[in-house]
Amino acid sequence: MAVRRLFQSSCLQWALRAAFLKHVRCRTWGTYQRTHHGGRAYRAVIFDMGGVLIPSPGRVAAEWEVQNHIPSGTVSRALLEGGENGPWMRFMRGEITMENFLQEFGRLCSEMTQTSVPVDSFFSLLTSERVAKQFPVMTEAITHIRAKGLQTAVLSNNFYLPNGKSFLPLDRKQFDVIVESCLEGVCKPDPRIYKLCLERLGLQPSESIFLDDLGPNLKTATSLGIRTIKVNDPETAIKELEALLGFTLRVGIPNIRPVRKTMEIPQDSLEKYLRDSLGIQATGSLELLQFDHGQSNPTYYIRLANRQLVLRKKPPGILLPFAHAIEREFRIMKALANAGVPVPKVLDLCEDSSVIGTPFYLMEYCPGLIYKDPSLPGLEPSQRRATYTAMNRVLCKIHRVDLQAVGLGDYGKQGGYIPRQVQTWLKQYRASETGTIPAMERLIEWLPLHLPSQQRTTVVHGDFRLDNLLFHPEKPEVLAVLDWELSTLGDPLADVAHSCLAHYLPSSFPILRGFVDCDLTQLGIPTVEEYFRMYCLHMGIPPIKNWNFYMAFSFFRVAAILQGVYKRSLTGQASSANAEQTGKLTELIANLAWDFAVKEGFRIFKEIPATKPHTRSHHTWSRSQAPLSPPGTRSYSSVPEASTAGASKEALVISPEGLSPPVRELYHRLQHFMEQHVFPVESELQGHQASADRWNPSPLIEDLKEKAKAEGLWNLFLPLESDPEKKYGAGLTNVEYAHLCELMGMSLCAPEIFNCSAPDTGNMELLVRYGTEEQKARWLHPLLEGKIRSCFAMTEPQVASSDATNIEASIQEEDGFYVINGHKWWITGILDPRCQLCMFMGKTDPLAPRHQQQSVLLVPMDSPGINIIRSLTVFGLEDVPGGHGEVRFEHVRVPKENMVLGPGRGFEIAQGRLGPGRIHHCMRLIGFSERALALMKARVKSRVAFGKPLVEQGTVLADIAQSRVEIEQARLLVLKAAHLMDVQGNKAAALDIAMIKMVAPSMAYRVIDRAIQAFGAAGLSSDYPLAQFLAWARALRFADGPDEVHQATVAKLELKRHP
Ligand SMILES: Cc1cc2nc3c(=O)[nH]c(=O)nc-3n(C[C@H](O)[C@H](O)[C@H](O)COP(=O)(O)OP(=O)(O)OC[C@H]3O[C@@H](n4cnc5c(N)ncnc54)[C@H](O)[C@@H]3O)c2cc1C
Repeated sequence: MAVRRLFQSSCLQWALRAAFLKHVRCRTWGTYQRTHHGGRAYRAVIFDMGGVLIPSPGRVAAEWEVQNHIPSGTVSRALLEGGENGPWMRFMRGEITMENFLQEFGRLCSEMTQTSVPVDSFFSLLTSERVAKQFPVMTEAITHIRAKGLQTAVLSNNFYLPNGKSFLPLDRKQFDVIVESCLEGVCKPDPRIYKLCLERLGLQPSESIFLDDLGPNLKTATSLGIRTIKVNDPETAIKELEALLGFTLRVGIPNIRPVRKTMEIPQDSLEKYLRDSLGIQATGSLELLQFDHGQSNPTYYIRLANRQLVLRKKPPGILLPFAHAIEREFRIMKALANAGVPVPKVLDLCEDSSVIGTPFYLMEYCPGLIYKDPSLPGLEPSQRRATYTAMNRVLCKIHRVDLQAVGLGDYGKQGGYIPRQVQTWLKQYRASETGTIPAMERLIEWLPLHLPSQQRTTVVHGDFRLDNLLFHPEKPEVLAVLDWELSTLGDPLADVAHSCLAHYLPSSFPILRGFVDCDLTQLGIPTVEEYFRMYCLHMGIPPIKNWNFYMAFSFFRVAAILQGVYKRSLTGQASSANAEQTGKLTELIANLAWDFAVKEGFRIFKEIPATKPHTRSHHTWSRSQAPLSPPGTRSYSSVPEASTAGASKEALVISPEGLSPPVRELYHRLQHFMEQHVFPVESELQGHQASADRWNPSPLIEDLKEKAKAEGLWNLFLPLESDPEKKYGAGLTNVEYAHLCELMGMSLCAPEIFNCSAPDTGNMELLVRYGTEEQKARWLHPLLEGKIRSCFAMTEPQVASSDATNIEASIQEEDGFYVINGHKWWITGILDPRCQLCMFMGKTDPLAPRHQQQSVLLVPMDSPGINIIRSLTVFGLEDVPGGHGEVRFEHVRVPKENMVLGPGRGFEIAQGRLGPGRIHHCMRLIGFSERALALMKARVKSRVAFGKPLVEQGTVLADIAQSRVEIEQARLLVLKAAHLMDVQGNKAAALDIAMIKMVAPSMAYRVIDRAIQAFGAAGLSSDYPLAQFLAWARALRFADGPDEVHQATVAKLELKRHP
């Protein structure tokens, strides 16, 4: 027999021990939680099988004897008969077959009782699945013992079954060592088998605890120095074991606690139900605890007799419609178990509210680990990766379930999941709303407009995340997927996104912990990209582009859920003690969701293909009318003769309809946004501008900025030429942007909404062109995100600043810093509380050549010594909240690294800055003019004077005609200048830029003035935007240089061309 050979060969003993130790080392999974286990240093627990892990043959026999009318105690006596050489001991040493044993044993029993005893029926019962089942309390204890890093062994007197296999109805994976008497040829209480077990464990006797139900077996163990526990009933034995080990083996059930006061359920009624419906024959009383999991549907842990169950019920009180459908949970788990998806085994659904107050269902308690902390502390990086891989795989398994085959074809609607979900969560949110959350309002508007075009339909879990998974304690295997409350049929990608929530949440975030602040490479956790790639690969599907949509949707849903929990906490219905705190996090989550909407907007925006100018047809622009000429009928190049070489084939796009399809689409989205969101709020904004709070940014604008971001209508201004890789902007050409910028110009508040307003646009372009990476990180990125604002300080009251070389402010080096002194005014935007950066122009070297004296320095607005003296007004208008400030810079110290490009390069920078920036003003002025003309036309059609509408007056008609002609002329010149900048560069376009700068403000001024005239006195009021348009058009005859300076430039260049 094996055991004899083993005891004969000491070499083999060592070989086996070495092999075993190797096995233990390889099983690193189980070692990570090895901790000091208190009390003595026990390192293993050895279990007998019958009577300890499974029911004892004696107890089974007692029941069987009653049922079969066999005198009580017959089997037990027969088992002992013959001692060492009796049939039972020989059977357990593997010396006789089941058949021989039954013959001998049957004879023995019959002799004892003087009747025929059907012993084979007893052994069938003893070995049946129904009886030979491990006590859950033991399974749970083993899980905890191993989780603490101790070894476990089973040391069993067992026998061979007729099929030649040994009788061991246990999950072998639970044990490090299994010693079976029939295999070893030796039985307890023979000391050799104990020694063999210890040998295989690699331990001294004093390092282990042995549990058995039979005194002689325990006696030998004690004599060998092993600590023993006599098992009369498993529950008590486990309590003793807990005392010896110094750690709990039961309340270690993850996340369990006494039932909360508001969540109590009538135990008598429940106990009766369990006895009646599940046939539990209990002697002890019912133990009821509550999981702190299950914010929505309270979940309880039940122990009755040797059964461990989980009860999940609806929360008490009036519930929101469609929520808490535990009947569905029951149904899906039942169906998925058949499809091989690991789920807890469901036992019974009770829809009768009279039992415990609400419907509930029961499932078997499944011991395992739930990782509450998604960063998986205590695991090795490889184990973390394996855990997330297992999570990913089980998700794929769920999404692969054949709906028809498992009878879930009608579990939800086919298709349209996301739109339905958005509506469902919107309704839930509205039903539990306690106050306005701006980000939620924006999402409610944004989500339906950005739905994925294609969606597959599979089973979706609806709340798939790590802490809804029960893991094997020793290996990366998902034992059960829990919490199916939100399951339905739907778009599987929603589950994938939801399972990545932790990737975006900080580790300090309550309830839903995350690891956005952790180093994933170091942790071994797959990044979102890796996780998603893994999923796609396994599912055999291509990756998607609109991941951000799914994340926005996921966080929106979480926010709506949290709001529901919060509301219920206010009415005392919530199942979690943390509910109130949870609800307050709704806004935070909503903001996070909105960040993804914004990212999605940026993605769309980045995907606009960069268009190099090329041959296109042109159309006459007319805002609400069809093009006058059919597309493609005419095309022409307006490039001047002298410069045609570089632009030979390229033509000017003079109407939005001639733009490339993606840019045209962008144009129409912008137009839609203006009509939907901007024009309607103008009068409200005017109210803000007149209010006491006017120097603070209007919340309305901030809200619209968020919406614009999420539409990808953001940072449209950066020309392709400055940002060829489209790192920062949409990569539009100047001509393309000209059409969009004109649209934005139609409302004074619009440019800021799209982060396209001066002076930020010029400053951002300056940073893109000339900033160092550090300067970009500190200033450009927050500016691009619209988080801060900036100003440009050049003009000085003491000198004629139309000539930039005149400026006197000084920038001097001192102690490794630059110290600036100067008096500036008309600094637009400096009064805005968000203004954090001032681009300061001053002289570093007054003795250098005229154009190399100036430098541009980046001055943080919180630097000491910046004193704003007053705000200047334009015709009495304050232009809040940025205003135009008069400022003294007094000994302002600025780090040297804040110098742009280098000392003496300021003039060069200012020129660069004014290129596209200058033409943006002109583009906007065309917008002002179009709006003014449109308002004028509407007004004169409806206003009657001297018996007929104003429109029938010849002078009015002349004014309209004049305005149309002038707008068209100016627009053509703007577009031509933009076109030249695109095809030949800013320098080559200098003449055209100067020409349009000369033309546009005064043209706009005249058109607006005519409109005001047609309006009568109303035109001067703030009821219409005309007066503000007029003030701006007038101011723009100075800003960026007075008309005369541009005239002088035009004249000089003209004279150069035609000497
Ligand atoms: C609304 C607004 C916003 C502004 N924002 C800013 C800002 O953010 N940052 C900033 O630094 N500055 C800003 N400015 C200032 C603007 O850039 C200057 O006003 C402009 O450069 C003119 O300088 P000045 O006012 O010193 O006029 P001056 O240089 O004193 O010129 C006065 C007048 O002299 C005449 N003149 C000048 N040169 C010539 C010439 N070559 N030929 C014939 N006539 C000539 C013109 O009629 C000119 O208007 C802003 C101005 C306004 C109105």
